[in-house]
Amino acid sequence: MSSANKPVNSHEGVLSSIDSLTCDNHYARLPAHFYNKQIPAGLCDPKMVSLNPQVLALLGLDDSFADSDALLQLCSGNYLPSGFEPLAMKYTGHQFGHYNPDLGDGRGLLLAQVKSTDKADSPTWDLHLKGAGKTPYSRQGDGRAVLRSSIREYLCSAAMQGLGIPTTQALSVVVGSDTIMREQVEQAAMVVRVAESHVRFGHFEHFYYTQRLDDLKLMLDYTLTQHFPDALTAEMPYLAFYKQVVTTTAELMAHWQAVGFVHGVMNTDNMSILGQTFDYGPFAFQDDFDPAYVCNHTDYSGRYAFNQQPQVGYWNLMALGRSLTPFMDVEPLNATLQTYDDIFLAKLRQLMRAKLGLQQVLDGDGELIKQLLEILASSSVDYSYFFRSLSDFDSTEGALNSAIRDQFIDRDGFDTWAAQYQQRLLLELSVDDVRKVHMDQVNPKYILRNYLAQQAIEQATDYDYSLVNELVKVLANPFDEHPEFETLAALPPEWGRKMVLSCSS
Ligand code: AMP
Ligand code: MG
Repeated sequence: MSSANKPVNSHEGVLSSIDSLTCDNHYARLPAHFYNKQIPAGLCDPKMVSLNPQVLALLGLDDSFADSDALLQLCSGNYLPSGFEPLAMKYTGHQFGHYNPDLGDGRGLLLAQVKSTDKADSPTWDLHLKGAGKTPYSRQGDGRAVLRSSIREYLCSAAMQGLGIPTTQALSVVVGSDTIMREQVEQAAMVVRVAESHVRFGHFEHFYYTQRLDDLKLMLDYTLTQHFPDALTAEMPYLAFYKQVVTTTAELMAHWQAVGFVHGVMNTDNMSILGQTFDYGPFAFQDDFDPAYVCNHTDYSGRYAFNQQPQVGYWNLMALGRSLTPFMDVEPLNATLQTYDDIFLAKLRQLMRAKLGLQQVLDGDGELIKQLLEILASSSVDYSYFFRSLSDFDSTEGALNSAIRDQFIDRDGFDTWAAQYQQRLLLELSVDDVRKVHMDQVNPKYILRNYLAQQAIEQATDYDYSLVNELVKVLANPFDEHPEFETLAALPPEWGRKMVLSCSS
């Protein structure tokens, strides 16, 4: 019998203080047609692959819970603590530029919204169980998630958090004995995603395109009340809300570009209203730098290529703005949207200056950055490795900097750029040793390269979860040295470069 058929809450001995998590299920208080309430279809014989202690702590749970059966059963959809009210959210969205009215949580459930303490001002966290079975929004899907994609989401959430980039988080990966069919038979798994909100741009598009304006207003008022309290007191609350989403989204795009992250599926249903990296699919961090890199093998036109992301962010914000037009004129919305480029560029410059160890803001910095990206691309230099190594740049005139220079096929190109960089450092009287300390705090030594994720997945498929657990630990502090995990900082082997990933997950 599948454990999915067992009555939830029937586990003997699972009673524990997980039941004392304080629920404040505000989404469930919205009208019933905003979602579908249902219980998860649990995994059979669940095993904990990995649990992130930092995320556990967010929920106010200490390490003693890590090995508890109650937590394992919760993370595998087999146990619902008291107060949990699982539901599948309805939303829609633009996928690859086309509006799809049939979306929603097709395989994930918002289990509960919990407070980490019982204090009134304690933050509330959404617990979302991904892979929890079919819902009314599953379309042809089976409602399940494979171990492979679950590990990728789990690790990348930790990696982004470690890098200081806004992201949803992941508490756990659990695998079951259930198998599911993708291109081949795979193990079924579940991730518990933890975030302040699971509201997506597509939530608003749903009510806009169905012209249910009362519901659209309810959704907006709910979102402002829960997540944008400052906007509530503004003269035009919905416009103030839009301004904040434009700002956080533009800044998120700058973070992605600066760290070399490709999301791969920037559909509007994968855009968090909080400007967090959301819904990890066929993502990649750049290895050999390629501005036109497309990591999603179903993205035939390269719509979501690395260098397209900033303008896709803009396009997606335009789609969100359209959903607000029933309540205000187009002009102020448009004027707000037009601030996007400046916000994006200012943030990107700030991040890139920091990567180069530049303290001051000087004319010509934009050109210096642009030229660097050009030579990184033309010599296919490893993006993260280069920046980490640049902190050893010797700014003495005439220094050869061969360890950095040798990364370039076009050595002359590097020499030309290095001479300008050397001059630029001189202009602000940069001190090499001091600069190195700053640069190492922003240029990660450890990055979730696709080949590392792939190795962790292959081992986990053979029931060895050690690499997943090592990676989650190291990626939490990617700027520090971890001498015992030096191999995890290695450049990709030939098979691991430019991996193109399947969207099937
Ligand atoms: P994604 O590409 O993961 O953002 O998913 C897009 C839409 O497809 C969302 O509505 C998902 O809930 C749904 N979906 C993805 N995979 C499955 C699956 N295996 N079963 C049911 N629905 C799915
Ligand atoms: Mg999605």
